[in-house]
Amino acid sequence: MTQITDRLKNVHCQIDAAAIAAQRQPQAIKLLAVSKTRPAEELRQAWACGQQAFGENYLQEALDKIEALQDLNIIWHFIGPIQSNKTRAIAENFSWVHSVDRFKIAQRLSDQRPVNLPPLNICLQVNISGENSKSGVLPADLPALAAAVATLSNIRLRGLMAIPASSDDPEQQRKPFAQMNHLLQSLQRQLPDQPLDTLSMGMSGDMEAAILEGATIVRIGTALFGPRDYSSHHQS
Ligand SMILES: *Cc1c(COP(=O)(O)O)cnc(C)c1O
Repeated sequence: MTQITDRLKNVHCQIDAAAIAAQRQPQAIKLLAVSKTRPAEELRQAWACGQQAFGENYLQEALDKIEALQDLNIIWHFIGPIQSNKTRAIAENFSWVHSVDRFKIAQRLSDQRPVNLPPLNICLQVNISGENSKSGVLPADLPALAAAVATLSNIRLRGLMAIPASSDDPEQQRKPFAQMNHLLQSLQRQLPDQPLDTLSMGMSGDMEAAILEGATIVRIGTALFGPRDYSSHHQS
């Protein structure tokens, strides 16, 4: 408990310091706690320390925790790769999805979003470093994808997400984040009726750089929960 309290405080301090350096309001940056591989009990502790938004990558693991923690009003974000056969459970159980990079997935999420729930908040994942191995839409294909997604009725297109190629150099880290900021600004001009207010970028190793370039959600795992152990973990 003490550990998570201290780590949460530290991360909030880092966010606030970066916001001040960027001459931004600290409240303009939301902390998403990335809880993949962490047991439900650790999320409960983080929640008790005031953390409300949690990000999960693997559907079955996430559904187990959603069930175990249904007494808490957690806001669940899906941030992992999405296969078509997983869209229904995602549409039914999450408030946000950060990892949409194909129209077909967005369409299924919209069609399968239960009518009693508010529209699903979506970020389009951009392959900003142009890596072959990475998911995400290429910047050149983003305007067409965004225009198509904006027509879907049960989706709110909130913005963009990226996981840039990693670098230890703070100056290098800023470049792809700055490009993301420009991409969001052009989308805002292209689709003025959409609530495009979100840049989901920055992880434990590069959150300062992301905040300096306009991140509104930082997705933090290791700095909050410690190093992950995948040895007993089964992906689904
Ligand atoms: C695991 C993960 C994170 C968190 O990474 P840390 O380096 O542990 O902070 C953020 N975003 C995505 C998409 C992830 O898969």
